[in-house]
Amino acid sequence: MAEAARRAGRSPSDVRLVAVTKYVGSDDVWALVAAGCRDLGESRPQQLWQKAAALKTADVSWHLIGHLQRNKVARTLPLVSLVHSGDNLRLLETLDAEAAHANCTPVPVLLEVNISGDTAKHGFQPHELGPLADRFACLPRIDIKGLMAMAGREGNLDDARREFSALRQLRDELRRAWAGRWSLDELSMGMSSDYEVAIEEGATLVRVGTALFEGLE
Ligand SMILES: *Cc1c(COP(=O)(O)O)cnc(C)c1O
Repeated sequence: MAEAARRAGRSPSDVRLVAVTKYVGSDDVWALVAAGCRDLGESRPQQLWQKAAALKTADVSWHLIGHLQRNKVARTLPLVSLVHSGDNLRLLETLDAEAAHANCTPVPVLLEVNISGDTAKHGFQPHELGPLADRFACLPRIDIKGLMAMAGREGNLDDARREFSALRQLRDELRRAWAGRWSLDELSMGMSSDYEVAIEEGATLVRVGTALFEGLE
């Protein structure tokens, strides 16, 4: 990660690792924490609930990186520091309502963008976001921190680079358009196979699972 940041003239401290724990049990997550990981990610809400309970005494922040069904919002909200998968307006409305109900501070979320055009993927279409600003502005308990995306599954690294670059450009445009309302500083992109390319293209958060556990019995 540090080498990729330097290659792009960025500071290694500008990129955070979200260690994705979905492949392992709580013992291995404790090993990650001992190794210095402080940001942990789960894609399934139920798994996040279980692991957060098992690691209750650890000084860690949980990131929800996968689809959140609206009936799981209330239980998930108190556990997470960032929802990467803000992938539709109704979910954001539910998060806003739940945060109001629980009387808590605005929920940090990323807007998930479907940059690969794969219809099986969750997320907003890139062109949808600009016009939705007025709708988002009606949700005072949502704090939009940036954008998240996944590269297309079958894509090679050149495709991934193009998609990450497009996400960054979209972020830059929205940041100008939405200045003063939302900061949009975060770009969550890059996984085990493409995190270096993502960092070169501006990622501030990479979500890496498989590569952390190579060789684990
Ligand atoms: C599983 C997952 C990752 C991590 O993928 P790896 O290829 O194992 O690094 C990242 N992001 C999301 C949304 C995931 O579901």
